[in-house]
Amino acid sequence: MIDIRHVSKWYGTFKVLDDCTTHVDKGEVIVVCGPSGSGKSTLIKCVNGLEPFQQGEVTVDGIPVGDRRTNLPKLRARVGMVFQHFELFPHMRVIDNLAIGQTQVLKRGRDEARERALRLLDRVGLRDQADKYPGRLSGGQQQRVAIARALAMDPICMLFDEPTSALDPEMINEVLDVMVELATEGMTMMVVTHEMGFARRVAHRVVFMDKGQIVEDASKEEFFGSPRSERAQQFLSKIL
Ligand code: ADP
Ligand code: MG
Repeated sequence: MIDIRHVSKWYGTFKVLDDCTTHVDKGEVIVVCGPSGSGKSTLIKCVNGLEPFQQGEVTVDGIPVGDRRTNLPKLRARVGMVFQHFELFPHMRVIDNLAIGQTQVLKRGRDEARERALRLLDRVGLRDQADKYPGRLSGGQQQRVAIARALAMDPICMLFDEPTSALDPEMINEVLDVMVELATEGMTMMVVTHEMGFARRVAHRVVFMDKGQIVEDASKEEFFGSPRSERAQQFLSKIL
């Protein structure tokens, strides 16, 4: 579903991604981790064309992201993205946050969009919050709305960039639970997170990055059992 081949990217003379190669099969969940500044966010943004890259190739469902002829807005509409900060539309009620992409981009009728929005809000446990403005919700609730909003577009895969790292500890699990459920249902997911409990539960593979390189790309069992690189070992010993 997602294929990243020999991707390199520079900011000026600074090489932020250095020959990165990995992939996510359909229905697979990969967790991307590594120290701050190692290039995780940059890599995930290359997948839906939010960041250009100078070398290599990224395809999503066979569509080349770096190709100038690719319709990026159309591709992005099918790739769900959830960021660290919820980025909901603050001036729109929760339900309208979920409906707007459906009506404007997917051209669904208003009733159909609202119905789908309500079903998704139900699924993330927030149906009763549909008419509130995002600012009235807790961080955990807002992040669940952000996930539901992404799902409303019927994405072919989902990208997450540290979706729980801005949350108070007591709200982390309510968001992770939604993500675990998605994973169990077979959603293709690329998840940047340091929540190793999540990785242990649902990841198929773990990618470890350092200084712009993919240092380790291993099955969950291999990664937690005996990471090959010293850098991954050090990282794990610090956060576990
Ligand atoms: P991570 O998500 O792993 O913390 P990032 O992908 O955000 O890492 O950043 C990787 C490196 O690229 C960092 O050193 C960061 O300072 C640098 N960087 C990120 N965005 C820019 C930018 N727009 N211009 C220059 N350097 C950047
Ligand atoms: Mg980041």
